[in-house]
Amino acid sequence: MTISRLFRGIGALVSRRIVTSSRTKEPVPWVVGAASEAVKAKFPVGVTVSGFRVKEVQDISELYLTAVRLEHVATGADYLHIARDDPTNTFCVGFRTTPMDSTGVPHILEHTVLCGSKRYPCSDPFMKMLNRSLSTFMNAMTGSDFTIYPFSTQHPVDFRNLMSVYLDAVFHPNLTELDFLQEGWRLEHEDVNNRSSPLVFKGVVFNEMKGVFADSQQLFSQKLQNGILPSHTYGVVYGGDPLCIPELTWDHLKHFHAHHYHPSNARFYTYGDMPLEDHLSFIDDNYLSKFTRIDPSTTVPEEPGWSEPREAHINCGKDPMASPDAQNSIAVSYKLINVVDNFENFVLEILGQLLMSGPNAPFYESLLEPQLGSSFSPSSGYDGHTRNTTFTVGLQGVKDADLGTVKSAIEDTFKRLAETGFPRERVEAILHSIELSVKHEKSSFGLGLAMNLAPIWNLDSDPVDALQINRNITQFRKCLESNPTFLQEKIKKYFLNNTHKYTLTMSPTSDYELNLQNKENELLAKQVTSLTEEDRARIWELGQTLRQKQEAKQDISCLPTLHVSDISRKIAPTLVTDVSVSGVPVQACDQPTNGITYFNAVLDAQHVPERLQPLVPVLCGVLTRMGAGHFDFRSFDQEVELKTGGLNVNTVITPHPVESNKYEQGIQVSSHCLNHKLNDMFDLWALIFNEVKLDDLQRFGTLVKMIATNQANSLVFHGHRYAMTASAATTNPVSALTEKWSGLTCLSYMKELSEMEDLGPVLEQLKELAGLLLSRECMRVAINSTPEYHDGALKNFEGFLSKLDGTPRGTSPFTCVSSEFTPHTSRNHQIFPFPINFASKSYAGVCYAHPDAGPLRLLARLMFKFLHKEIREKGGAYGGGANSTAGAAYSFYSYRDPNSTKTLATFDAAVEWVLSGGFNETDVSEAKLGVFQSVDAPVSPGSKGSRRFLSHISDELFADHRRSILDAQPQDLIRVARTYLRDASIEGGCLIGPKNEDLENDPFWSTVSN
Ligand SMILES: [Zn+2]
Repeated sequence: MTISRLFRGIGALVSRRIVTSSRTKEPVPWVVGAASEAVKAKFPVGVTVSGFRVKEVQDISELYLTAVRLEHVATGADYLHIARDDPTNTFCVGFRTTPMDSTGVPHILEHTVLCGSKRYPCSDPFMKMLNRSLSTFMNAMTGSDFTIYPFSTQHPVDFRNLMSVYLDAVFHPNLTELDFLQEGWRLEHEDVNNRSSPLVFKGVVFNEMKGVFADSQQLFSQKLQNGILPSHTYGVVYGGDPLCIPELTWDHLKHFHAHHYHPSNARFYTYGDMPLEDHLSFIDDNYLSKFTRIDPSTTVPEEPGWSEPREAHINCGKDPMASPDAQNSIAVSYKLINVVDNFENFVLEILGQLLMSGPNAPFYESLLEPQLGSSFSPSSGYDGHTRNTTFTVGLQGVKDADLGTVKSAIEDTFKRLAETGFPRERVEAILHSIELSVKHEKSSFGLGLAMNLAPIWNLDSDPVDALQINRNITQFRKCLESNPTFLQEKIKKYFLNNTHKYTLTMSPTSDYELNLQNKENELLAKQVTSLTEEDRARIWELGQTLRQKQEAKQDISCLPTLHVSDISRKIAPTLVTDVSVSGVPVQACDQPTNGITYFNAVLDAQHVPERLQPLVPVLCGVLTRMGAGHFDFRSFDQEVELKTGGLNVNTVITPHPVESNKYEQGIQVSSHCLNHKLNDMFDLWALIFNEVKLDDLQRFGTLVKMIATNQANSLVFHGHRYAMTASAATTNPVSALTEKWSGLTCLSYMKELSEMEDLGPVLEQLKELAGLLLSRECMRVAINSTPEYHDGALKNFEGFLSKLDGTPRGTSPFTCVSSEFTPHTSRNHQIFPFPINFASKSYAGVCYAHPDAGPLRLLARLMFKFLHKEIREKGGAYGGGANSTAGAAYSFYSYRDPNSTKTLATFDAAVEWVLSGGFNETDVSEAKLGVFQSVDAPVSPGSKGSRRFLSHISDELFADHRRSILDAQPQDLIRVARTYLRDASIEGGCLIGPKNEDLENDPFWSTVSN
């Protein structure tokens, strides 16, 4: 896995949402509690515990935590512990990894250390542990100068198991040649069993990076960083340039490991309510005490300043989803400060948001509103995670003729701002959003913190200091008060008078992909022609050995594991009350929300006529961004930022949990705010409901273009989701609607809109649609708030309702009956100019309450074992698996896959593997643990009760579903595989990828050009 930009600065420190799972214990209100008291008693500054000396102990009251900083005396390893009364504990070990070439060595190393270690010599212990744990998160990531290995779990035994596997992987990996060949790159016969088939490049990272750079915006971001900070490690492609990866040798990989994955270059992070002393003694006894200190020489120097700005131009492939005459990208980057200056980093983070975020931002006004481009380029904004931080402003979707205009608009905007500065309300709005994000509790707080701190701590910036958000805000306010031109001076210093400035432009050429392929072919030919007979024999041998190793039955008994009996049979009841407020059904849930109220409403859309249906996602995309009442879109956005954490609108399609032919379709509106701003928040919603401004054609056009661009960009990232949605669409009505509202169908509809000359008629239809949806007629609501504010929240809501039209109908939400839907078999190849494929096959599923829903969910997890091996390890794809969605479909998928028809055949083989009993009871137990990571996913206080509210799943149904998974036997899995997959009469298929002769000639497949 690779990441280029994990997150942005301190403003985003606690606001990033990371997908996790599994909270079984109830959260407690955050106070500096028992965990903090315990560390303060046992770890005064200066004491040494298990070889670690305590350097600093600091309470951070706004985050309800105590930070303890330690150093391992013998090796110099750095350690940060965050004590907090949170049962979801997190561990992370990270290393500063500073490659000086583009062979992708840190990235390939990240993959390879997870292929087996001294104590855990089986292949891929990391992946195997996914099935032997109840972790809520397990992953590994490579950034441009660091590599981190984080996990989270609530179980003490699980924590110890995972820590042991992680530490053994990073400090004592086997790093065998076969692992290197499998994960990195190798020459191998195209058909590994046919010696006369041509030699080709294979390897997981090799293919992964081809996939990454198939996205031209990724390419652009990479080249931009290389260009602005060229002299050291940021000047290379840390993930690996596919044309350079084949230069990497196994020896170089081992050498890189020895220097970088050493305790003297390591940072350990633990978080939660488990005792620190246990962590320290385990780490020291088993690992650190066996090392002596080295100088890892991984210091990243500051980038030498330039006396003149620089410019460069690159090419990319054409984007079939974007308008053909507006496909250029342009960005201007500025080198800023040394990242160790925490306060200046904080100031620049705020400045970055002021410049870029929301419709009031000056660059929004000067670049997006005149439609100089379709949206900001992905690297835009402040990046405070490299040795020298950078700020970038850029656009994608720019016409040739506008490139010069963009450049001067950027310069003019800075000039204007140096004169005028920013309105005080804008600054207040940004500060409010930071304060609110601090209070808004996530279910994965410890993990978010680890990921946010990793990049700056990695560069020796003080991580404890960076947590002092309130102190930084106070200091920032003081600066503004004592110097009214504080921010203007920053603009002059960092932008107008900064000669370290890099302008990059990118334009598509029609032969880009061909050229790239030619270069790869040349490289291949060069390597192949230089081979001796001996080399060839060895390649053949290695190919065979690797295949045998991949196919060999593995003994993984060396790995620690939890057991199915560790999964609780009891569930925590959802404590909610149902009330009726002015006839509208409300689910009220009292939670320790840190003084925040969460509002959620679903508005039924079943009465929307067919002709307006495609516009439902469009309405969701623009509704809160057009302005309302006496506010234009800019001032409305300002109000939203000042009073709430944002107003969200999205589509909802919920299958009935019990009746298989019914579903709910509608839109969900949701938001949260501080309790004392609830009245203001409802006033804003009332304006949206009653007086939304759906008449600004220019504004609408801008938004449509932005949405279309974002969706098109998401295709190469989420291609497997698009493929699954498309393949499931003909098998059941819920997936059919999902395809219409968020699948490829929606994507091409948005493209069509973005190219329309006159959007007037569309806007008229949108008004009609808004009139049908925005009332209290078909509304149901959930409100989560603190117990003491329960009544206040409901009273405010009542006030909001009194301003709305309509009479609440109080009908059942499942008004859609799918009698008109006829399931049928359909297989489509959607042609896109990617060098890789996304394949999917789908079958109709069963409703949530059906006794087979649990076994099907388990089956998908069980099949992952087979599919991962075939599609990733052998096939060289980035990933593959199966998903079972109750009330919708059972779908297979592959992700960034060099294969197409072969993978489609692998999906069938997975079914046969199950039917022939290719698995054992341990596999089933492991699948159960795996499924429960998501079944028991932790839920934050603001989202408590959402299973009941959004999915209509009662505690009773939930308990039954859990039981049906826990009790499932191997024969149940065989039975459901036969009934729902092999014997299914209806099947859906979708392949997203380049032209494919096999499918063109296949009478069962149709081809769609895009
Ligand atoms: Zn990777």
